[in-house]
Parts: sequence; structure tokens; C-alpha cells
Amino acid sequence: MSLMKSWVASANSPETPFPLNNLPYGVFSTPGTDPRCGVAIGDMILDCQMAEDIGLISLTDNGLFDVPFWNELMEEGPAVWAALRSRLTGLLEQGSTDQARVEPCLVPMAQVEMHLPMVVCEYTDFYSGRHHATNVGTMFRGAENALPPNWLHIPIGYNGRASSVVVSGTDVRRPWGQLKSPDHDLPAFLPCRRFDVELEMGAIVGTASEGPITVQEADDNIFGYVLLNDWSARDIQAWEYQPLGPFQAKATATSISPWIVTKAALEPFRCDTPPREFALLDHLKDVGPMLYDIDLSVTLAPKGKPASTIARTNYNQMYYSAAQQLAHHTTAGSPMNAGDLLGSGTISGPEKSERGSLLELSWGGKEPFTLETGETRSFVEDGDTLTLTGTAKGDGYTIGFGDCFGTLIPALKDPYAR
Ligand code: CA
Repeated sequence: MSLMKSWVASANSPETPFPLNNLPYGVFSTPGTDPRCGVAIGDMILDCQMAEDIGLISLTDNGLFDVPFWNELMEEGPAVWAALRSRLTGLLEQGSTDQARVEPCLVPMAQVEMHLPMVVCEYTDFYSGRHHATNVGTMFRGAENALPPNWLHIPIGYNGRASSVVVSGTDVRRPWGQLKSPDHDLPAFLPCRRFDVELEMGAIVGTASEGPITVQEADDNIFGYVLLNDWSARDIQAWEYQPLGPFQAKATATSISPWIVTKAALEPFRCDTPPREFALLDHLKDVGPMLYDIDLSVTLAPKGKPASTIARTNYNQMYYSAAQQLAHHTTAGSPMNAGDLLGSGTISGPEKSERGSLLELSWGGKEPFTLETGETRSFVEDGDTLTLTGTAKGDGYTIGFGDCFGTLIPALKDPYAR
């Protein structure tokens, strides 16, 4: 597929993350106005609420955009998802007869504040990056036992907190927690000393399900994807994680990109999962290309300093697709709902420059790495801004998610001061 031309000139640049081919969904506000649904096009946002109010979008009896989140569209199902995309394309394509009516609905992106694009119903985080799991396992248990025995057979995950999910740009406060240093017999309650990022993609469930669903059904039920940073407190995690997995280490914040890129926009970038060491059981078997070729990067900017790229990798490094994760999630009967968010797990590649967490980049803090500004890092320091980017490269166009960034602010002096 090549660039689809729009009458919005900025959408026709090969570099813009938001060409007509993309049409990602977000929620925005301008100063003094309430949040509402919008679609990114070049350096503008189409105000969907206004477009619906003046009759440019009319897909359901009750309207889709009287609420500041995209869950209502998700609940309408794939036929309405396709109808909206088709209508938006018609409104914004070069030669559209509606241009004069659409123009007043465009808001410059530079003037807006972004909000969470959806009500996050529930949040699950997986651990399906093989290089990440191997690196972390090697550090914690040695190279012989790096991958747990179940890892090549099921996508391991844990249930996180939907309430911890925040939109890109939200500051993240360094947490306190119970830590146990190897030098001490007893734990202490202290500010986290090993705060980290995890480069992930998030898949958003659009269609609800009741009992177990197949991998194909799971893929059909996915609405779209976001960038996701699973902020992680490694010292809290090391003490608490056995035997029930991470808990407070993952409860501070999870940042997502402001834009949901739909499955439809990513269709040209589908690719296969890697070769299987063990054949997966039938209910988890691949039934087509369900990963995506999306270049990912992480940058770190110390306070007041330029950003350095610290990792580059690709979503095609995942061992399990989001469809396989979702299918597995339903096997024991758990219902899934529109707005459920599934984190992929940290995405690392085979090379050192492809590691999607500071834990891996600094090898557990033993090998601090150097930024382009000359400073060194083992973990995130107060004032650091971490930014995730994701781009899929088409023929003369780019699909982007908008940056997913957050700044670490210092721990409270006393979390129990009242
Ligand atoms: Ca994670």
C-alpha cells in the first residue's frame, strides 16, 4: 500500500506519523474545553464530536461521540469500526466534497492536551519477549535456567491494575516500597532505588467474549494497539515476586501512547512469529501472521538535557502475538471486555543495543551505560524523561502512535505524612 492523499497538506508528508493511512483514535481537549474524541490527521485533529453534531458522521442511532472515550465504538463491533474508518477516509481524502464542512472541525495538534483514549477496563501484562525473558532469567537464575519450563508453551502473564494506567505526558512519582538488600537480614521501607522502564506494546480488546476463544477469534476481537511503558521498581520486585509474581513493583504507573492505532491501519505490516522450539498446543497455534513490523525505540533525557537513544528494537521480536495472549487469557473462562488492555511484555532484540529495559541495558546495574551527553545510568534517575516511539514504514508513508513519555519525579519525603 502507498500513501493515501489527503486535502490536509501536512498529512501527505512521508514523515508524518499521521497520514490518511493511519487515522488513529485519541481523546483531546483545548484550553477551557472538555475532553472529546478526535482522529489525528497530519498536524491536525478532527474533532469527532463536532463532526457528529453537524451530521458529518452518522453511524449509530444514539451517536458514538457524546462521551470522551472510544469504548462505545469498540462495543459496536467490527462492522461499525470499518464503517467509521471508511467514512473518515471519505471526509479527509483529496477531492472530498465535504472539505468545506470538515475544515471547521479541525484543531491544530499543537494546541491540545491529550487524555486517556479509553476507559481502561482491566489490565493484564504478559512476558512474551524471548530475549527479555532470557536476559532477566539469566541474571536472576543463571543461563541454564533462564527460561521457566512453561515459557515456550504458554504466554505467561499477571493481572495488573487498570487504575495505574496513565496517558503519555503524565509525571511518574518514584515509589516507596519494601526492599531487602542482600547485605541485610531484614527488609526496610524506603524509596525505590532501581526504578526502570519496560518497552512494550499494548493490545486493546474491542469485542467482548465469554468463554474460551480461538486465536483467530482473538485476533478478530482486537481493536488496536498502543505503545506501553510498564514502569517497574526492580528492588521491590526482587523481594516480593516469589511465588505469586509482581505486585507493588508494577503498581506505580503504566504509561500508554495518546493514540490508538487501529488493527486496520496496521494490516499492511503483519508478520509471523519466530520459529517454534516446541509445537504449541492446538488452541495456541499460529493461524496466520499476527505480529507486526513496528520499529520501536527508547530515549532517555536527563533533566534539561537532550535525549539519547538507549534502545532500538522491533515488535516482530515477540514470541507470542497479542492474539495468542488473548486466546490464552480466555482458556479458563475469564470474560473479556471492550477496553481491556494487554501488555506484550518487554520487547528486546538479540543485541545489546536492542534491550527494552534498563535492567538489561545495565545488566542488573553491574554495567552502567553511557548516554550521548556523557552521563551514565544504571536505572532511572529523578528528572529523567523516558520516551517510547513506534513507527511502521509503508511505501512513502509512516504510521506512528505519538510519543509515549513520562518524567520521573522525586519520591515523597514521607508517604504517610498527613
Ligand atoms: Ca512488563
